[in-house]
Amino acid sequence: MPRAFRSKFALLILASCFSAGLARSDGETQPGRDAKQPIDEAYTAKMKKYTTEPFFTSPLVDYLPASKTVPTPEAVLGDVAGASGILPYSKDVYAYMRMLEKASPRVKVFSIGTTEEGREMIAVAVSSEANLKKLEENRALLGKLADPRTLQLNDAEADKIVAQAVPVYYITGTIHSPETGAPTALMELAYRLAVDESPYVKEIRDGMITLITPVVEVDGRDRMVDIYKWHLAHPGQNYPNLVYWGKYVAHDNNRDAMGVTLKLTENVMNTYVHWNAQVLHDLHESVPYLYDNTIGDGPYNAWIDPILADEWQMIGARNVADMTRFGMPGVFAHGNFDTWSPGYLMFIAALHNGISRLYETFGNGGADTLERTLDPEEYARTWYKQNPPLPKTLWSQRDNNNYEETGLLVSLHYFNENKRMFLKNFYTKAKRSIEKPKSEGPVAYVLPADEARPTLQLELLRVLQKQHVEISRATSALIVALPPKKEKKKSDEKKKEEAKKDEKKDEKPEPTTKTFPAGSYVIRMDQPYSRIADALLDYQYWSPEDPQKTPYDDTGWTFGELYGVQVVRVTDAKILTAPMELVKELNVPGGVKGDGAVFAIENHAEPALASLRYKLKDADLQAVEEAFEAGGRKFAPGTMVVKGADRGQLDSATKELGLQPVALASVPSVKMHPLRAARILLLHTWLSTQTEGWWRLTLDKLGIPYDYASTQTIAGTPDLRAKYDVILFPPVGWGGSLNAIVNGLPTTWGNPLPWETTSLTPNLVGKNDSTPDMRPGLGWDGVAKLQKFVSDGGVLLTVMDTTQFAAQAGMSPSVNVSGSEKMKIIGAVVGTRLVDGNSPIAYGYGEKVAAYCDNGPVFSLTSIAGSRRRRRLGPEMGERPTGRGSKSDPDFAVGRLGVEAPEEPEGETWETPPVTDEQRHNNPRVIPPALRGRVVLRYADSKDLLISGLVEGGNEIAQHPAVVDAPLGKGHVVMFSINPVWRGETQGTYSLVLNTVMNFDSLNAGRKDPDK
Ligand SMILES: [Zn+2]
Repeated sequence: MPRAFRSKFALLILASCFSAGLARSDGETQPGRDAKQPIDEAYTAKMKKYTTEPFFTSPLVDYLPASKTVPTPEAVLGDVAGASGILPYSKDVYAYMRMLEKASPRVKVFSIGTTEEGREMIAVAVSSEANLKKLEENRALLGKLADPRTLQLNDAEADKIVAQAVPVYYITGTIHSPETGAPTALMELAYRLAVDESPYVKEIRDGMITLITPVVEVDGRDRMVDIYKWHLAHPGQNYPNLVYWGKYVAHDNNRDAMGVTLKLTENVMNTYVHWNAQVLHDLHESVPYLYDNTIGDGPYNAWIDPILADEWQMIGARNVADMTRFGMPGVFAHGNFDTWSPGYLMFIAALHNGISRLYETFGNGGADTLERTLDPEEYARTWYKQNPPLPKTLWSQRDNNNYEETGLLVSLHYFNENKRMFLKNFYTKAKRSIEKPKSEGPVAYVLPADEARPTLQLELLRVLQKQHVEISRATSALIVALPPKKEKKKSDEKKKEEAKKDEKKDEKPEPTTKTFPAGSYVIRMDQPYSRIADALLDYQYWSPEDPQKTPYDDTGWTFGELYGVQVVRVTDAKILTAPMELVKELNVPGGVKGDGAVFAIENHAEPALASLRYKLKDADLQAVEEAFEAGGRKFAPGTMVVKGADRGQLDSATKELGLQPVALASVPSVKMHPLRAARILLLHTWLSTQTEGWWRLTLDKLGIPYDYASTQTIAGTPDLRAKYDVILFPPVGWGGSLNAIVNGLPTTWGNPLPWETTSLTPNLVGKNDSTPDMRPGLGWDGVAKLQKFVSDGGVLLTVMDTTQFAAQAGMSPSVNVSGSEKMKIIGAVVGTRLVDGNSPIAYGYGEKVAAYCDNGPVFSLTSIAGSRRRRRLGPEMGERPTGRGSKSDPDFAVGRLGVEAPEEPEGETWETPPVTDEQRHNNPRVIPPALRGRVVLRYADSKDLLISGLVEGGNEIAQHPAVVDAPLGKGHVVMFSINPVWRGETQGTYSLVLNTVMNFDSLNAGRKDPDK
């Protein structure tokens, strides 16, 4: 449709809405202003002026009702919401919400907690005065629907509540800081909901409570406003990219709804649950013009109630329909967003019996009005986008606000019209969650009391607690029936073979029950929030054949596996009648046992051991290299021996950490080495701080001190080794190539990009790093300094893309790092196997370690510096060349006797191939045995690789090293193909990093090398 015609068409629609506010013949209330209520003429004129096309607005937001008592957003903004050049700080947004609260009995503001940097988060309730007066009473009513056990699951009782309760629709804005439009849209929306007397809005106000958190990522919002102000003050210049959002992570703040490690997740979670809200609707801005991705695409999360999937369709379809009728282009649902991972903030609602929703609207990353040109796939008409966005248009923040507010108003109205159904669904979903043991299973999950890693078990239970899951504890031993083993269909021949074998086997029937000791934790599935517990503890399987070929995010997350603790899925209903009690407070008993001056602490790869090392920084802590026995107890290699520590101090520290030192009669007479409180530097680039943020968060939570510096800073540090023992270089994330890390952003043109606190940018640095210019990278000088750091005895720990950097910079001659070709391991849980349990890096780990992997990279070891693994002619040629004889009867040349060929040295995929005599001949590139890579963990065999999620073409990485210790000079480069520290979900692999840190100057302990 040509644009001119399109405009006329849209104007016609607008004209037809002139008589809005009257009920239509079908009984539905028509959107539009109440002719009797005056409008704020000046405000309305400005809104119109800032709207770049007449069809970028709707009859719901093309006017602003006037009020004599209630201030409009102009009171704090100095202009209308969405005006070009205006982005309010969080405090301005809050100031306005509190002005509304003061001026109108229809608004109440609640403080819902603080951020990591101490900024306040709020929730604003808007509803009729009558509804707000009985807020607590109504909350109690909704609480009964949220927990149908209070109604004895009686549907008739529930119906009575459904008929009178006022639902809560919770809207959250700007979790993603460069997506800047939501705060002003939500300020204006709150005003409209409080003031507008049109029947359409009045119905919403009288019928429901709209709850609004206008800014979710408050720390990031204030930084973003700083950046925007810098931009306005420096017209024509490039402005810095928002490299930090919150204190720890950027975009990933919307992937925390599983692990709940960030304050913003915890605060929204608590608010959602406390209010017994029915909907959580999160606002984003990255797709033109309004993508309601609530419906999304498959696969859907396997743990949601099917009722929710239907609610998504209803709400999403109606949302698109209403806005399409308004003539607003570019409004669509479905699209490519899959609804598999429960990590998104909105998913708090999905797995707590509510409705999750998410909008992507179109933002300019600030409040500039810009000419925007779209990609062909963005403006293409598809089956789900019949009225697509324009290929090119002038776009303003006001346009964005019009879309956001219109979408929210039609959603609220539709929800209100159907609220009895949605409230009944809310109750039914909760009821079905409680009936889960009977109707679908499982019955419970058990975390046994005899867990070898009680502190990690505690951490996992704390996640469930933050998710508001009830945790019980068995008061006596539990005996549960195990599910019967399913027989696989086998060919007749196999059956016969097995029958023969079975005859020979001495008859030992498989156990049919399992016993858990008293004190075991039970996560009962007959509770309202059983679904989130099930989703976190269960296994995920994403088929390589799934029609969805581009998973939107992680495909696997099984928490028991990633925490390295036992979690048993129980299907025997008897467990629910076993004696148990609700756990109010979680803790692990710790403290010193026995008398003596020497203590041993077993090492089960619990991160708390490293916390202890740093808490007792002056004590003599040692790691034993061999097993020993003392007092009738066996201690494995890696056991921590504490000497010369103040007993009282040790006792209080271990009580706090949940560790149990045992007094020994004497120092065990086995080989041991010191465990160090190593001086750590956490290295970051100015390209992205997203992924390393999870590492900072982890170290902070464990109480492990570290310096935090950029590649620029270390390039200017004369002697790194004098300052640091270990440099952690976590993944850079987007584009962490050698070139990017070394060269940074181009500096030969353009202007400096400062990241500094100034009067113009008071919030920018916060508690993170600063630089006068974000562009320069590590530089070749910096590479040399890093190299020298390692050669002088330091340890550089690299992960995923930074291993590639280390390899390409020549710091790991024994390890080749390459990308994969066809493999697809998309954020999955995979199996790894212990290769060298004597390596201090592996202390505390067993034969099998589950780990998080996101497509490698693939490591291969070599004994020849600069060479790839020796190419072979193919497996069938490995045996012998063509000639006479058979496979075992060698060929010989005619005219002389046959000669036996020397046997080819063979090795496993993860091993360093042995050096042949030919290779050794006058070859300066042969790496001496002591300097070759030492494999700590390798990936499991192909068939055992998948634990949870999507693994396709895994043979490319199967059996290859997963963690390698590569010596360089006097030091080491420790290389991870897995990511051991990710989103607070991978606590089971934290100790691989922490062991590296504490044993940094003894990494060669237990190393065995070939002679040549
Ligand atoms: Zn976003």
